Amino acid sequence: MYIEKGSQWNAAELETAAHEHLISPAEEMAKLGTSGGRPMFASADGVYIWDNRGHKLLDGPGGMWCTQVGYNSKPIADAISAQALRLCYNSPWYSLSGPAAELSKRISDFAPGDLNHVFFTTGGSSAVDSALRFVQFYNNVLGRPTKKAIICRIDGYHGSTHLTAACSGRAGNRPNFDLALENVSFISAPNVFRRPKGMTEAQFLDHLIAGFEERVNTLGPDNVGAFLAEPLLASGGILIPPKGYHARILEICRKHDILYISDEVVTGFGRCGHWFASEEVFDIVPDIITFAKGVTSGYVPLGGFVISDKVLSRVSGENAKGSYYTNGYTYSGHPVSCAAALANIEVFERDNILEHVRDIAPYFQEKLQELKTLPLVGDVRGTGLLGCVECVTNPEDTEASEFDKQVALRVDRYCYEGGLIVRPIGSMCVLSPALIITKEQIDEMVRILRDSIVKVQDELKAEGLWG
Ligand code: PLP
Repeated sequence: MYIEKGSQWNAAELETAAHEHLISPAEEMAKLGTSGGRPMFASADGVYIWDNRGHKLLDGPGGMWCTQVGYNSKPIADAISAQALRLCYNSPWYSLSGPAAELSKRISDFAPGDLNHVFFTTGGSSAVDSALRFVQFYNNVLGRPTKKAIICRIDGYHGSTHLTAACSGRAGNRPNFDLALENVSFISAPNVFRRPKGMTEAQFLDHLIAGFEERVNTLGPDNVGAFLAEPLLASGGILIPPKGYHARILEICRKHDILYISDEVVTGFGRCGHWFASEEVFDIVPDIITFAKGVTSGYVPLGGFVISDKVLSRVSGENAKGSYYTNGYTYSGHPVSCAAALANIEVFERDNILEHVRDIAPYFQEKLQELKTLPLVGDVRGTGLLGCVECVTNPEDTEASEFDKQVALRVDRYCYEGGLIVRPIGSMCVLSPALIITKEQIDEMVRILRDSIVKVQDELKAEGLWG
């Protein structure tokens, strides 16, 4: 039986099935029917994955920034199994479950300020989408039907629903899609590395804030519903804004009654050494925080948003005006997912995961910084257990070239051969390992990455393409 032994098919049969029948996210359509370089993974333990050919790999991206407590956690697997047998499902549209109730209390306790109510969804996209739909609902109930524009950033990523894709500013995700852009407005990314030449970081910060303020004024404050931002742009390449950026934007939002949504789908649940990063790392208490990924360490899907009492009270109780927030999913706050999240939180607490991240993050950052001496490396940046090594072949370029991206792909291939998953984003090798990673494993990760970059440097020189 599949459950006891895994698949009875061999690796080649599984690959054939995938090639003939499976469509993957970000499928390169010209390569449909081939692996397109996409490996098939068979099993995992801790920070390691084995592919279906038996090759052992250190998981650099931590799944997709989500395998916080690592693979093969028995307490989480047991909790999933026990809840599936006790109550595998309840409809959240007309009933409650114990795990969802308990988890809403735990998350409210972790969240800053008066963010005390949780709306569960099924993942990150549905979390952000639901928060944005709440903004529409809120302003309609308040009798402000024009207050709808969402200001977001170029290079931000917020998901793959119709609305969250529209709010995602990464150029590569856009071709051939129709985007729901009528109420979406983009401002520039706080990309310190690529800031205009000659600008100090302090001037760049002023420039960014002025850009936001100007956008609010151009749109008209009565037409702006929300500012949507990751505390740091994760998929955009670990872009950490200059200190004070979020606080100054929040101040402008408060002045104009614009809701501030902090998208913590990546930064939440320990990635920066805290349950949430908004207040502890970035000094703000937003109106809404969205979360997903690390809430279950990736064992099962779950997401949601946590919202402030102050905001909620304006459209609930005696202020509800007969309204229903008719947004949700069959699997909102699925009891098995919530049970997994509760077990995940227990593992965090039992193993002092947040403290571990705070202890080991400086070592991780220091080791990554050592790569900066390599000629092919243009920038190294990061915080917590998030890091980015950006390949730059021509320092005069103002943005990553196609060649830079090809170079990162070559680095990725050598890393894979050497036993490390990197999954480059454009020209950037982004690392966000499971939070349980040890110093020895960080050494292993950085050694493989260094060796791979050196190999690519030598290869490019030999081919006369660079250097
Ligand atoms: N928000 C951020 C910041 C993300 O990085 C992602 C996914 O990477 C999402 C939202 C969407 O989450 P999901 O893929 O779970 O729908």
